[in-house]
Amino acid sequence: MLTPPALPTPLTPIADPRLAAVGVELRLKRDDLVHPLLPGNKWRKLLPNLEAAVAAGSRGLLTYGGAYSTHLRAVAAAAKALGLAAVGVVRGEELAVAERNWSLAAAEADGMVLEFVPRSAYRALVAGGGQARDGYWVLPEGGSNALAVHGAAAVAAELDDLGGRDVVCCPVGTGGTLAGIAAGLPAGARALGVAVLKGGAGYLEGEVAALHRAACGREFGNWRLHHGHHFGGYGRVPAELEAFAADFEQRHGVPVERRYVAKTLRAVHDLALAGEFAPGTRVTAVVTGLPDGLAARGISRS
Ligand SMILES: *Cc1c(COP(=O)(O)O)cnc(C)c1O
Repeated sequence: MLTPPALPTPLTPIADPRLAAVGVELRLKRDDLVHPLLPGNKWRKLLPNLEAAVAAGSRGLLTYGGAYSTHLRAVAAAAKALGLAAVGVVRGEELAVAERNWSLAAAEADGMVLEFVPRSAYRALVAGGGQARDGYWVLPEGGSNALAVHGAAAVAAELDDLGGRDVVCCPVGTGGTLAGIAAGLPAGARALGVAVLKGGAGYLEGEVAALHRAACGREFGNWRLHHGHHFGGYGRVPAELEAFAADFEQRHGVPVERRYVAKTLRAVHDLALAGEFAPGTRVTAVVTGLPDGLAARGISRS
């Protein structure tokens, strides 16, 4: 559980004549292959937390999430693998009596005890990173804390050929992955986060800066957020984005997770064609997860 099958995760060059025409090189950092149980950035962010929880003698993990939270499922799977208890505090008391959706059912099947709370109470509970509970290692909503930033920094550290022409690009939900990647970059290289939520401008920048202060004791100037590719908001996948993702999968043979990764790849594509990257730029897009169906069935190796 605590040791992945293979690090560093592979780098896949992407040959795209449209990008080549504007002098931009693209490659994928295949973090979707990092761990069969916890693909992508969930493994990166959880690993240092799991080590700390075990070292602290915690009897369980406690975290927060919505009805389809990938983070909640990841914590449930990790707790099961480590023989720890798990509690998931879920936003929305109406879900308590509804038939379980596939995501909550998967968390429960791994032994997570779900606690359903009204939305107003949920907001109060998650503010400030969650509430302490005796014997439990508490992870904030989305799992982004200082330890998670250090875990995500390893993604950048594995890219040992970076320099002044490099931009490392990743999707942004809560910002822990972007914060880690920016913190792990060598001088000259830059990080670009693509926000998948609507209306996060300003707020998310503040979150990333706060994570940097918490994890590294300082802020960084080597990153920025792009807010133009949320496609209507979290979980929204309009037909145009679906078509782009399906085309990318067909051209390059890489599964494209839709809620985060597709938006990121499309943003890279559009920004490149708009001339936002200087000719000669090399973009490394981090594939932070697998499509739901593949992850749920455990088909994570290609
Ligand atoms: C959870 C998730 C993210 C969001 O990462 P943050 O660290 O919360 O910004 C990105 N990509 C995928 C595939 C995810 O599942």
